Amino acid sequence: MARIAFIGLGNMGGPMAANLVKSGHQVSGFDLSEVSKAEAATHGVKPAATLAEALLDAQCVITMLPKGEHVLAVWTDLATLLTEETLLIDCSTIDVESARKAHALASAIKCPSLDAPVSGGTGGAAAATLTFMVGGSGEAFAAGESILQAMGKKIVHCGAGGAGQAAKICNNMVLGISMIGVCEAFALAEKLGLSHQALFDVASTSSGQCWSLTTYCPVPGPVPTSPANNDYRPGFSAALMLKDLALSQAAARQSGAETPLGKHAAELYAEFESQGHGAEDFSAIIRMLRG
Ligand code: NAD
Repeated sequence: MARIAFIGLGNMGGPMAANLVKSGHQVSGFDLSEVSKAEAATHGVKPAATLAEALLDAQCVITMLPKGEHVLAVWTDLATLLTEETLLIDCSTIDVESARKAHALASAIKCPSLDAPVSGGTGGAAAATLTFMVGGSGEAFAAGESILQAMGKKIVHCGAGGAGQAAKICNNMVLGISMIGVCEAFALAEKLGLSHQALFDVASTSSGQCWSLTTYCPVPGPVPTSPANNDYRPGFSAALMLKDLALSQAAARQSGAETPLGKHAAELYAEFESQGHGAEDFSAIIRMLRG
């Protein structure tokens, strides 16, 4: 079992740190929010007054922070506070370029490092069923895999530093585009007098089959557990979908990839958020697409 410092105890990081404790790891936690620290403490995470205090004796440091700028700020501090061989893992969803810069900061102090963003949302974080998409060297992956297993059920080594973030934003670009496609099909079916259930029964067993339809159906009825049955409470918020689509577009611009549908999906989610719907589940975009 390892001594782990967990930085960023929010909606995702709080339950992830709690699952590390459940698996027998010693976890010290730091967050700028006293409320988040106090909540994590009720799950056995030792609250630290400062980042430096959280790092004392840590063999591994995990960050779970909002954006690339927060990760780089914290990892820059880590680079002044840590000794070599501490394993650094960032689980936040951030841009590929910042992830590569974070790996370079770790490499400069001879610490192995992984970018390991997740899918599965707050439900997966609480149930320890997250999927981790991991970038970093084979040695760093071997050192971190068992720690990640305490928080998730599927751990995929995607390649070198930054590959985890690349996998995450490519996957979520598919998700954003496919959700819009499924929403458009239901909106068209409504105009044509075709019932939701009839479209679902056909498309879910035909070539229109996809996760946005069969697991996360954007209309109430066919999939009782989808957010559409719960007045579109997230789930996965439209604001987080917009964040991930914006990351995919930044990466497309930087790498010279053409992603016209990803670009349009980002524009549609930006419009949806600007209308005040960022806190709703991302499948609620069907309301805007109906016109
Ligand atoms: P959150 O806002 O609930 O938590 C982030 C935490 O980081 C906050 O508690 C904040 O106080 C803390 N923080 C910020 N700067 C800090 C610093 N310098 N030092 C210490 N703590 C600091 O966000 P979240 O929903 O937990 O998401 C975290 C990351 O996970 C994001 O990158 C997000 O895109 C990604 N993610 C979220 C979900 C989801 O469903 N919420 C799903 C997959 C991935």
